[in-house]
Amino acid sequence: MAETDPRSRRVVVPGVRWLRFPRRLEAEYREYQNLEAVDSFRVNAFYILILYMLLLSGIYALAPDAVRGLWLGAYIWVGIIVLAAGILAQFRALDRYFPIYTGLGSFLAVALSMAIPGFLDEPGSIQLANVSVIYALVIVYAMVGLRFPVAVLACWGGGLLGWLIAERFGRGIDWQMAHRTYTGISLLGMFLCYTEEVRGRLLFFNQRQLQRQQHRTQALAERLHRLSREDSLTSLANRRFFDEALDREWRRCQREQQPLTVMLVDVDRFKAYNDHYGHLQGDECLRTLADELRRYSRRGGDLVARFGGEEFVLLYPGVDETEAVRLASRLCRSVRALGLPHVQNAAVGEVTISVGVAVTRPAESGSALQLLDAADRALYQAKQGGRDSWRLYEPPPPVRLVHDSGVSKDD
Ligand code: GH3
Ligand code: MG
Ligand code: MG
Repeated sequence: MAETDPRSRRVVVPGVRWLRFPRRLEAEYREYQNLEAVDSFRVNAFYILILYMLLLSGIYALAPDAVRGLWLGAYIWVGIIVLAAGILAQFRALDRYFPIYTGLGSFLAVALSMAIPGFLDEPGSIQLANVSVIYALVIVYAMVGLRFPVAVLACWGGGLLGWLIAERFGRGIDWQMAHRTYTGISLLGMFLCYTEEVRGRLLFFNQRQLQRQQHRTQALAERLHRLSREDSLTSLANRRFFDEALDREWRRCQREQQPLTVMLVDVDRFKAYNDHYGHLQGDECLRTLADELRRYSRRGGDLVARFGGEEFVLLYPGVDETEAVRLASRLCRSVRALGLPHVQNAAVGEVTISVGVAVTRPAESGSALQLLDAADRALYQAKQGGRDSWRLYEPPPPVRLVHDSGVSKDD
């Protein structure tokens, strides 16, 4: 969105000088600005009230007795307006009406302040009344938090209304004095308000760019993290993720004295499948099998991963032999049930798998790699046994050493 001006190396933000971003950004900015303004005004309303009390005490002390009643009668309304806006700002539900009620309040407060000098004739009072116009303008431009065009409308519109009231019902406005107060401060206020809004817009724009950058970086980091754990063909966990999980679950089952099951799954005669159907169809077949195997991860610690090539591995913490063989047998059956054609697969004619199952209760002496090795041996036995089947790894029977005396002894 921002382009870099090569001459000055400054970042040019579109529309900021004209206080108008492109449409969508502008809508976002207004929402942001409004929330910021209400938040500040919740506190600022109290400071404005304090300033108002200060002005009021000045009037009370300096205004002649004859006009004090008129003064206070008029100024009490300014106080009521500030108080009402301050109270409204405390309700979050009214946040989106903030520019309306503060804009209208500012308009009325400026109109009142502007009109009052037109009803006075004593020079001291007139001077004091003009000071109150300065207060009103500074507060509206700098403390309420209105956007520049709204503040300008409230202050010039309020001034116009005050002037008309003073002309119509009072003695009119002394413009020599009003230019030094109302007009001068209005121009100064506009300048300050404009500068402040440009600054606010730049801040918003930079924050937004920073946030977008953060989101992008975060999304990229998440993607990288996922890619480092996921197999790209099947979207199952990859070998690295499995190795970490095996290590973790091994230690956990050791601590909790739980059994741990590993199953190695190998697609039967897959080389022939590729040769016959083509490598791409082979990939599709692996994806279908992966989707089927995925259903066999049922609980928190269970894991189904691609071990490599046409081999998959399943990890089941807390699953004993009985449960393990039941699962392995179901696994073989459900792959058969998929009915994926494989004319090169001997008599079956469909895609089948062989499964090697190993179950142990992790102890200090053994290792996770030994468990994996046991599953691999069982898989080999399943292949030897004719494929499309599962085998549970049985440790070899203890070797019996036969001594010369003819007495045998367990190793
Ligand atoms: P067995 O029943 O003894 O397991 O026979 P096999 O043909 O499945 O075993 P072998 O290890 O000889 O062949 C494995 C084949 O798996 C070889 C290779 O082309 C194929 N393969 C490995 N990874 C992929 C893959 O990502 N996509 C495809 N399409 N084929 C793969
Ligand atoms: Mg293999
Ligand atoms: Mg194979």
